[in-house]
Amino acid sequence: MEFITGGNEGCSECGAPQTSCNHCGACCIGGGPVLRTQDERLIKTGKLDLSQLYTQRAGELMFNKDSLKMESLDTDHVKLKVEPETLRCQFLSPENRCEIYAHRPFECRSFKCWDEREIQAVYASDVPLCREDIIGGIKGLWDLVTDHHERCSYALLGELIRKVDASSDRDAMDKVCEMIAYDRSLRETLIESGRVKPVILDFLFGRPLSTTIVMFNYRLETTDGIDFLVSIV
Ligand code: SF4
Repeated sequence: MEFITGGNEGCSECGAPQTSCNHCGACCIGGGPVLRTQDERLIKTGKLDLSQLYTQRAGELMFNKDSLKMESLDTDHVKLKVEPETLRCQFLSPENRCEIYAHRPFECRSFKCWDEREIQAVYASDVPLCREDIIGGIKGLWDLVTDHHERCSYALLGELIRKVDASSDRDAMDKVCEMIAYDRSLRETLIESGRVKPVILDFLFGRPLSTTIVMFNYRLETTDGIDFLVSIV
């Protein structure tokens, strides 16, 4: 979640200090909350379904608005899915009301745009929920997820991309394309086999590498069935 005001700027009409939510909806647009360990019960009790979540995997690059740099995540972040274009939370109604208010995640409950102290304490001391907390006990499935996480490691991807950047290393570029192809084919195979519902793939394996490769300033193009990387800077 993002701070919109950065402090208490008061009512835009009368200037009085804001002390409660005025349902502008701004904090629910721009990226959903990261689930915290307190939110595990929402999944266990069926209030949240895996199809409503996606994972930002450890190692993914995220923009840090404090350092103004892209930095890698040191652990998984499991998040509520958002509308792709607007980044609007899937549970925000057209009237800017939370449709799961009574069961909203811990970050949402701790966030007050007029007073940052509670959410800052959460960021500073609390632990994000990770995929292992949720499905670590499901043996065959967890093995598949960890195997994918190693084979499609963002740390390795970053190393390969640095070689591509430095010297247009052909071997490194091929390895990146192989990694993306493996990620894609695993998802396709699981869908075809009927073993996994397509809507939970982005929770299990994170977003497809063919999409997230843009965080390294490349996009994937395919000609005559052959993948290749194109720089977007
Ligand atoms: S769950 Fe509710 S409070 Fe949280 S971001 Fe979505 S709409 Fe907003």
